[in-house]
Amino acid sequence: MPGFEFFGAEEKRHVQDVLDNGVLMRYGFDGMRNGHWKAKQLEAAVAKRMQTNFAQVLSSGTAALTVALASAGIGAGDEVIMPTFTFVASFESILALGAIPVLVDVDDTLTLDPKAVQKAIGPKTKVVMPVHMCGSMADLNALRSICKEHGLLLLEDACQAIGGSYQGKPLGSIGDLGCFSFDFVKTITCGEGGAMITNNETYAKNADHYSDHGHDHYGMDRGAEGHPFLGYNFRISELNAAVGCAQIQRLDEFVAIQQKHYSILRNALSEIPEITFRRVPEGGVENYSFLNFFLPTEELARKAHLALGEAGVAACFYWYDNNWHYYKKWQHLIEKKALGKLPEEVLSGMPDYTRANFSASDHWMGRTISSLVKLSWTAEEVQQRASNMVKIIRSTLN
Ligand SMILES: *Cc1c(COP(=O)(O)O)cnc(C)c1O
Repeated sequence: MPGFEFFGAEEKRHVQDVLDNGVLMRYGFDGMRNGHWKAKQLEAAVAKRMQTNFAQVLSSGTAALTVALASAGIGAGDEVIMPTFTFVASFESILALGAIPVLVDVDDTLTLDPKAVQKAIGPKTKVVMPVHMCGSMADLNALRSICKEHGLLLLEDACQAIGGSYQGKPLGSIGDLGCFSFDFVKTITCGEGGAMITNNETYAKNADHYSDHGHDHYGMDRGAEGHPFLGYNFRISELNAAVGCAQIQRLDEFVAIQQKHYSILRNALSEIPEITFRRVPEGGVENYSFLNFFLPTEELARKAHLALGEAGVAACFYWYDNNWHYYKKWQHLIEKKALGKLPEEVLSGMPDYTRANFSASDHWMGRTISSLVKLSWTAEEVQQRASNMVKIIRSTLN
């Protein structure tokens, strides 16, 4: 998945443009920039590639999620439905606004189960936030019609699936809001960065102001700009955006390489009758950043994962035991451990996760192994990896 594997001449050229004029900030200093507006250029490129009217590039994917929620007016006590399998950034962004993360089961897509979402909707629910984990997507048609029926916003976290699509549309562009991360281990990188996309002009304008202290960006004098509402600083620097300007142009090239490597691994593992693959919703095309498959039982998945590690097959993940990506290890969330006092709305309104039953998620996640798909593997290395994986998994099944 990682774009950092290919840091080349174009990335350096864009960074050099910024170094040559010394304007490291995305706003103002018009005279000094020599025409270089890297954050703005990246926004135009993201909006074009994702076929949306607006893109706001931000300091991280977590910032993108926070700004996206804020731009739509989400605040204290509002409930946001999110999956049990995701990165911690999902609930961090929700809690940052005083809103309440409502965890919901995943199914064999490894993303939100629409039936479980339906059950979790209450009077305070405002947003459904599917997370397209490990390269593939949620059942967006089902989620979209649930959102329509209940008047909820659909916010796609496409941080791990950039370049994938659903029924012909780029992932991230299908909901009311979509988010990407350009951190160092994502498919395309800025070092640190992220983006929010939308077709909603009000959300776009809100995001533009909110991410820069509320600056309304009217006129040529930053000090004289108005501040129609409270904001924060989630700006990206020009240096980071410059890297992204090169990387976004390579997205389709990266996805094509991932698809090639993914197919080799998948074809090999398909020879093992006990292995099944994660379900991809109809009309969905993955970005192939991971190959995700199920073993018949949790016990066999643990055994296979251990054996793969011992044999030196790097970057195979067993998310069920992972500290960062599965609810079981989110003790800090479950016990509401914050540095300071959490908002009353969160303290009183958050479900009691010490007593949660997510056995439906456990059923799938306990059996899941994901192999990262790297860009820099040679044809030989992928073939070798594929045959190693088959050999090792076969031996654990006997
Ligand atoms: C990486 C990631 C984020 C957060 O992105 P950062 O840029 O690291 O803040 C959010 N959601 C998911 C699913 C991610 O993988």
